[in-house]
Amino acid sequence: MVTIRAENEEATKKVARKLANYLEAGDVVLLEGNLGAGKTTFTKGLAEGLGIQRVIKSPTYTIIREYTDGRLPLYHMDVYRLEETGGDELGLEEYFQGEGVSVVEWATFIPEDLPKDYLQVKLVPAGTDLAEREISLSAVGRRYEALLEAFAKSNNQA
Ligand code: ADP
Ligand code: MG
Repeated sequence: MVTIRAENEEATKKVARKLANYLEAGDVVLLEGNLGAGKTTFTKGLAEGLGIQRVIKSPTYTIIREYTDGRLPLYHMDVYRLEETGGDELGLEEYFQGEGVSVVEWATFIPEDLPKDYLQVKLVPAGTDLAEREISLSAVGRRYEALLEAFAKSNNQA
């Protein structure tokens, strides 16, 4: 696990922008954290890092938004509203195995619809400053262990 302190919103985005450099087609990033923790903010940083120019809007009502103007397509999902129904009718698997990067907010609500391997990013308020977050990245599966190792190396140098 890699843990990083982000002192404000911009720092959170910066972590995400750096992580974006290591993402490849078919990668899945699950974002954990309570309402307002910074999941959508983190996604904005990822999008910036992928070179996406379009404005990232929270997909709370649409569930999935796709952005195809960057280095890789970004599939941004917020599955909060699927807590009762599950996600099996949405064909999420096609996104997870697709040509882009899938980022999922509230993934714990659809445990049965998640891929076996993924990178988990957890955002938790930390410290005394309201804007501080602790960002913990953990890998499940080989692909993500390698990804996280590469990211951690570069992050230590920077
Ligand atoms: P979520 O998607 O987890 O519900 P959002 O990213 O939509 O959260 O909202 C996070 C809110 O917290 C934003 O208003 C953002 O400006 C604020 N914020 C303050 N500090 C941070 C930080 N360090 N990282 C991310 N967001 C922060
Ligand atoms: Mg959100």
